Amino acid sequence: MKYFSTRGGSQELTFEETVLTGLAPNGGLYIPTSIPQLPSNWKMEWKDYSFVDLSVAVLSLYISREELSEAELRDLVTRSYAGFRHPDVTPLTKLNERKYVLELWHGPTWAFKDVALQFLGNLFEFFLKRRNEKIKTSGSATEKLTVVGATSGDTGSAAIYGLRGKIDISIFILHPKGRVSPIQEAQMTTVTDANVHNLAVKGTFDDCQDIVKTLFGDTAFNTKHRLGAVNSINWARILAQTVYYFSAYFHLRRSLGLSDNDEVDLQFVVPTGNFGDILAGYYVRKMGLPMTGKLGVATNANDILTRFWRTGRYEKVDSTPIAEAAPSMEPAIGSSDGRQATDSSGVKETLSPAMDILVSSNFERLLWYLAYENVPEGDKDRRGTTGEVVSGWMQKMKSDGRVEVPTAVLEAARRDFCAERVSDEETLDTIRSHYEGSPSYVVDPHTAVGLHAASIMAKHNAPSVTQIVLATAHPAKFSEAVSKALQPIPQFSFEKDVMPEEFKGLLQKERRVVNVEKADPELVKKVIEERV
Ligand SMILES: *Cc1c(COP(=O)(O)O)cnc(C)c1O
Repeated sequence: MKYFSTRGGSQELTFEETVLTGLAPNGGLYIPTSIPQLPSNWKMEWKDYSFVDLSVAVLSLYISREELSEAELRDLVTRSYAGFRHPDVTPLTKLNERKYVLELWHGPTWAFKDVALQFLGNLFEFFLKRRNEKIKTSGSATEKLTVVGATSGDTGSAAIYGLRGKIDISIFILHPKGRVSPIQEAQMTTVTDANVHNLAVKGTFDDCQDIVKTLFGDTAFNTKHRLGAVNSINWARILAQTVYYFSAYFHLRRSLGLSDNDEVDLQFVVPTGNFGDILAGYYVRKMGLPMTGKLGVATNANDILTRFWRTGRYEKVDSTPIAEAAPSMEPAIGSSDGRQATDSSGVKETLSPAMDILVSSNFERLLWYLAYENVPEGDKDRRGTTGEVVSGWMQKMKSDGRVEVPTAVLEAARRDFCAERVSDEETLDTIRSHYEGSPSYVVDPHTAVGLHAASIMAKHNAPSVTQIVLATAHPAKFSEAVSKALQPIPQFSFEKDVMPEEFKGLLQKERRVVNVEKADPELVKKVIEERV
């Protein structure tokens, strides 16, 4: 299996090159040359597989054996999930006959990004080690990787836990000082491994992101330190996330007691920001896992994706005249002019901050597949033509902040997906109703967005459809929203009902952080030079 860029060009990369490169030089994202189909006996063969067995089976379809032997892959996957607190890694919990949640937060930082970043960290280390063994025999200097990233909380902690203690890798994570939640700050800064460096930058998240972009664009600095990225566009992250769709499917079959010949009507609903988590579901659907229900995109007030599925326009700012807007698009409650607070870039601040985005970086991958379907089969260079189309769309997005796709492309998108937007008010109501429900279940605000969207989508589903909502974080990570929703209930106690034992000592633990007094790339470069 090889990989190529969504923006065209004839270059094809191995899996290893794809993982180590991240973003393609032409600005595109890497996708596989084809989506592998499930082997004919998969359902019987895989049905009792453990999470590790499933990972090996699924990932093997995307990674050629010459690059990673089965034993090597199994070792990487085993080590990646050994630290998860649940034996099923991503267990399925039943809420009612037709609704389940897939708990993706049993990893070290209590959020779904751990599933991919634990694997990515091991993969980086494995590839570097192998390259360095070859280099050593030739007597040249060995390769080192310097991972640099900006975070508003979630990605940073999961990346740090994925890369701590890894040989020949350093990680520098910039966060805006005092602007990440106390738990997230503690999760990041209490990791005291020598290769982990937290930089608290005086400024905003955007300032941090701009600094990181400047460093990646600085060819001399980038080449000298071999900068690596861990953001959600890395193909290995998408790939690792495909596995839990399979594990959920088999858990559900067992839970329903289905016989081998019976099939389940299934819909996955995914709290979505950068479109990485749900994109994995799209690959799984195209591989052949039966999903009668459409993949459900659940967004908060940062609803660029929900608007796309409604209008076919992918645009940063909503250009729909108010009178034409659908009823469920009413302005957010709670501010006099009907608008929610936005930061300098136009991102709305919501109670589900890990989905506060303006554009969705992984959406380009889906656009490629949709565009491809729309290029005539007879085109002699169908892939090349598709790359040109996508490249044109992304250029338009960059220059105009908006692009409209042809009707046939929108129709293709609607065949596989549906989308709903959920307000903060609805998020709080959903947290409350699940706490008061039977079984009483405390959800984090991101999962609540998914659950609310799922209940809207259920109205359009056949009655036989069972929904699985992906639970992306543990509620203790997002205490602001959870407390706001549940504090008014007299018997509720955050300590008792939500807080895991493991969190209790975290705020008191020793911390290591470098303060950067000004949002200046030169200051950050100096810190990296001194410490790498
Ligand atoms: C990152 C994140 C999301 C969004 O996932 P995408 O892959 O960016 O769509 C949702 N919930 C939580 C808790 C997250 O950390």
